[in-house]
Amino acid sequence: MKGRFYRWRTAVAWVFLAALFSGPFLSYNGQPLFLFNVLERKFNIFGVTFWPQDFYLVAIGLLAFIVFIALFTVVYGRVFCGWACPQTVFLEMVFRKIEIWIEGDSNARRRLDAAPWTTDKILKKSAKYSLFFLISFAISNTFLAYIIGKDALLTIMTDNPANHIGGLSIILLFTGVFYTVFAYVREYVCTTICPYGRLQSVLLDKQSVMVAYDDVRGEPRGKKERGAGAGGTRSLWNWR
Ligand code: SF4
Repeated sequence: MKGRFYRWRTAVAWVFLAALFSGPFLSYNGQPLFLFNVLERKFNIFGVTFWPQDFYLVAIGLLAFIVFIALFTVVYGRVFCGWACPQTVFLEMVFRKIEIWIEGDSNARRRLDAAPWTTDKILKKSAKYSLFFLISFAISNTFLAYIIGKDALLTIMTDNPANHIGGLSIILLFTGVFYTVFAYVREYVCTTICPYGRLQSVLLDKQSVMVAYDDVRGEPRGKKERGAGAGGTRSLWNWR
């Protein structure tokens, strides 16, 4: 894909990925920038510590966030999904790019999938799935660092594995979940699992910005008569 919006989207994705991977490892005033330690009920947001008794602040913040997301969706449609959702950012900007880099575009991938198991196919598939596994492992470690903190994660990584069976099992479990999501489940997360994805159908209206098939312009299908016009008044990009 090419174009101005795609270039912006790629830039936003890289900033987002840098922030996501560095978040639990950066400190502010001696406190981790972000920590969501549900085990010790301690939360750090932008270096400020919150305890369970401060939870009403988080609840107010969450309510404001949900209202913001709902209003934002009504006006701008699926902008969050396309630009800021971790599922999309990782899938489109990391995993899909690796897949295209190793196996080629969708036509080349279809040909490769249908082809017999040659050395070339085995090498490509092993390279792709090994990279997928390594990135899933990195995401899993970062995810755990958000929950238990970077020091506890470093202890698990450097200490005798026998002392951290629980921590290592959780890392492997999350690695497996991320690997399955990004290698196989993919868009099914959006169409069947994500509650926000399901909610969008009731949040969008005719004024919302969206990229979608326009039945008024598109139906009936087939060649249009010269001078018949577009066949409708709605535009694909409803910038009103
Ligand atoms: S539907 Fe859900 S998972 Fe999919 S991109 Fe949107 S917010 Fe992310």
